[in-house]
Amino acid sequence: MSPAQPGPRAKALRNPQNPQAWAASMPPLQRFLAACHADFRSDDDGAVASYIPELGKADPAHFGISLATLDGHVYEIGDSRIPFTIQSMSKPFVFALALDTLGAARVESVIGVEPSGDPFNSIRLNAENHPFNPMVNAGAIACSGLIRETKGENAFETIRDALSRFAGRALDVDEAVFASERATGDRNRAIGYLLRNSDVITVDVGAVLDVYFRQCAVLVTARDCAVMAATLANRGVNPVTGEQVVSTYAVARTLSVMTSSGMYDYAGEWIYRIGIPAKSGVGGGILASLPARLGLGSYSPRLDKHGNSVRGIHVCEALSSHYDLHMLNRSDDARSAIIADYDIGASPSRRSRRVQERNILAQHPDAVRVLELVGTLSFSNADYVSRQLARSPIRPQFVIFDLRRVTAMTPAGLRLLVELFHELAEFHVTVILSGVRRSSPEWNDITALTGDISNVRDFYLLDTAIEWAEDQIVYRYGGAIDFLETTELGEQPLLAGLTAAEIAELAALATINLYQQSERIIAAGDPATSLFFLRSGVVHVTLPDGVRLATLTAGQAFGEMALIEPQRSADVFADFSATAFEIALSDFERFRMQHPKAGETIMRNLAKLLADRLIVANARLDVLKAD
Ligand code: GLU
Repeated sequence: MSPAQPGPRAKALRNPQNPQAWAASMPPLQRFLAACHADFRSDDDGAVASYIPELGKADPAHFGISLATLDGHVYEIGDSRIPFTIQSMSKPFVFALALDTLGAARVESVIGVEPSGDPFNSIRLNAENHPFNPMVNAGAIACSGLIRETKGENAFETIRDALSRFAGRALDVDEAVFASERATGDRNRAIGYLLRNSDVITVDVGAVLDVYFRQCAVLVTARDCAVMAATLANRGVNPVTGEQVVSTYAVARTLSVMTSSGMYDYAGEWIYRIGIPAKSGVGGGILASLPARLGLGSYSPRLDKHGNSVRGIHVCEALSSHYDLHMLNRSDDARSAIIADYDIGASPSRRSRRVQERNILAQHPDAVRVLELVGTLSFSNADYVSRQLARSPIRPQFVIFDLRRVTAMTPAGLRLLVELFHELAEFHVTVILSGVRRSSPEWNDITALTGDISNVRDFYLLDTAIEWAEDQIVYRYGGAIDFLETTELGEQPLLAGLTAAEIAELAALATINLYQQSERIIAAGDPATSLFFLRSGVVHVTLPDGVRLATLTAGQAFGEMALIEPQRSADVFADFSATAFEIALSDFERFRMQHPKAGETIMRNLAKLLADRLIVANARLDVLKAD
């Protein structure tokens, strides 16, 4: 199926001249689900389940679809908020709960994982007298038995609580459906006694069946099913609430049995054609969980001969084929992991450096390599990053990994990254991390694996990281960074070319101010009424939104934009205690009038300084990969 063409009303609304058009615009996925709903709502094939009498009362016309993304957005169409009983869709979640509650060894010792090929309610066990898998009734009743065995009277509440956390809201029970199944569920009772006979169930069978019947009668909506499925697709983290509901071990095993046995005796065909792990229930629900992508929930109570919702199957088929979502048709481009890869020769820090420092750094342009990473750091991405680093014949002395745009790290990506740090340590390359806060979970994940390697440093700001690495290069090659040094006006590049007499005249106009560490010297928005020449110490220039534009050391001017702009555009703070010559703009202007040649030289110097800054800024843009 492809999404239906918009009808006349929709067309009218889509006319860009129509003022309502934009308001009526829809994300394509919402439009697709709406088209599915419109296309399949008239399909009246199949019949509402009635072997549990109360289920027969369902309205066969009800039809709701919902899709939850892993960033927590939930699409909905039709009767997506109509409650119905979860029935067999409870099985995967209770299996996951059992794995986490009793431990995998205990659960896996009594419940198999092979498809049975039998109907869901078959009274047949495998050769070891165990249920074939947790998706058929025998396996599900065994799971409920295990929970009852450990939680006793609290067994059902434990299950309800887990299902609620998967759904992200407190779920109720349909007592009438529970009572109805309890009164008629002799086949399940037979299965229960068989399990007791083979010691899979070790407690009272009646109590276990009460837990099972009650768990099947929990009320959910198509929306709940989408969120529950998305939680499985998201490695057990509910994408709406952010809660880790079950372990990743339990999630992978649950999705495995959904893949092989989730859709009754249609499971093989289902995974072959649709390729999305799923589970259906006789209440009319289907939930489908595409790992790392989405969760789908649908509700329509008419069932086919296998017990699967007819319209729900159509929706899943359409979704899988229209967007080519079969889980075994996947690819990924690892190369998107690196957004910028450069060295300090191509893009140095924003620190304005003195000539000696500049010369040393110019001789070692590839001593510091910067890799700005982006998106999810997965197995393939981290591997690609490590090969990119090795590809260049020059071994850097420092490698900065900027993680500020990394949105997630998979366990494999994290492991490869840390293995790369160890490899670099062998070659005495210092690793610097930027863009990750020490208070973040990512930091804990990284340091839990790095152990005691000593070659890893971190600075939250990338520019600070680059600056620190540059300083180390300056020191290594005999340079010094002297924050205590005092410079005179004549050493200022802005005043280069002026005569000694002109400098002396300017010095007479200046006051020398002392600033304490962290003191604000200039405030953005204030009128620009003076120029500053840093005499000693360090200051930094910061935009009001916190972006650090430059770090200046003795011998450099700041606030010099006063020559062209009436208002300060950035803040300037003292990093350490600092002293500066301050010359009032009016005095400076008078000096320029009296010494027109010197005035011209100063303006030419200013143009040169601005051009240099522009070159650095352009280099920064260039390093963001265009290819
Ligand atoms: N409570 C139902 C039963 O055990 C669930 C069946 C199903 O949804 O597949 O018969």
